[in-house]
Amino acid sequence: MDKSVYSGSSVVLTTKHGKSSAIAPVFLEILGASVVEYNADTDKLGTFSGEIDRKENALECARKKCEWAFNTFGNKFDFALASEGSFGPHPFIPFFPCDNEILYFIDRQRVFHLHLSHLSEKTNYRVGSVSSIEELYKFAKSVQFPSHGLILRPHGIPVKELIFKGINSLEILEVSFKECIKYSPDKKVWVETDMRADFNPSRMKVIGELALRLAQQLKVHCPKCHTPGWGKVREERGLICSSCGTETELVKSEIFSCVKCSYNESANRSDGLEKADPGSCHYCNP
Ligand SMILES: [Zn+2]
Ligand SMILES: [Zn+2]
Repeated sequence: MDKSVYSGSSVVLTTKHGKSSAIAPVFLEILGASVVEYNADTDKLGTFSGEIDRKENALECARKKCEWAFNTFGNKFDFALASEGSFGPHPFIPFFPCDNEILYFIDRQRVFHLHLSHLSEKTNYRVGSVSSIEELYKFAKSVQFPSHGLILRPHGIPVKELIFKGINSLEILEVSFKECIKYSPDKKVWVETDMRADFNPSRMKVIGELALRLAQQLKVHCPKCHTPGWGKVREERGLICSSCGTETELVKSEIFSCVKCSYNESANRSDGLEKADPGSCHYCNP
């Protein structure tokens, strides 16, 4: 395999939650690059549990984390990484929780940004309120506690007042529950999965999967200007029906583009499918 242009270089990763454990092995194996953690207080940019509002969107947050590292370390690093996750119902499947991860990379030597995202349903994300310890045990069991952490706070009072985060043992869970009940006006406890990567192995795994895609894409260069990061940016629909020849909603081609120059190429589907089954055709199968 060809040596990557990043071989032997260091990439700074801004994280408060030990994400290098998912990203560093992949970057070393695929690119030969070391990932150095910059342990910054990224909570300033907002937290999942709501004590600090996330004013900007996830992509902006990730970009800012990268730039934060550049500003802190001056010219020590030319490459920066940051990740950002958001959790909630799946955009197409109601009530189905999902983890939407973004991984942002900046190469300021070659002057380009590359960010990829990954929507995964492999998440334990869940929120709810409970009024008894038995209900809490049931919730905890359903979200892979204690390998995955929990957050508790009294139901019905402002988020900022009292919160227990990173709960990963039964003892702390029980103590936190008692405290929360005490301060809740309606004697209920709000419980949610702790989505910080170091308390959530499922999320760490998704970040690792995304890191693999990013590293692989950084090994591919633009055919025209040779900048790394060449990859698929979108798909075009309109695959022709094999029976009647009309355009269907299925993907026809994949568009690849450079992160720096405007060069792009259209390619046939990677799975080789050239015609759509009449079953997917509005005309043949209305
Ligand atoms: Zn048809
Ligand atoms: Zn190019």
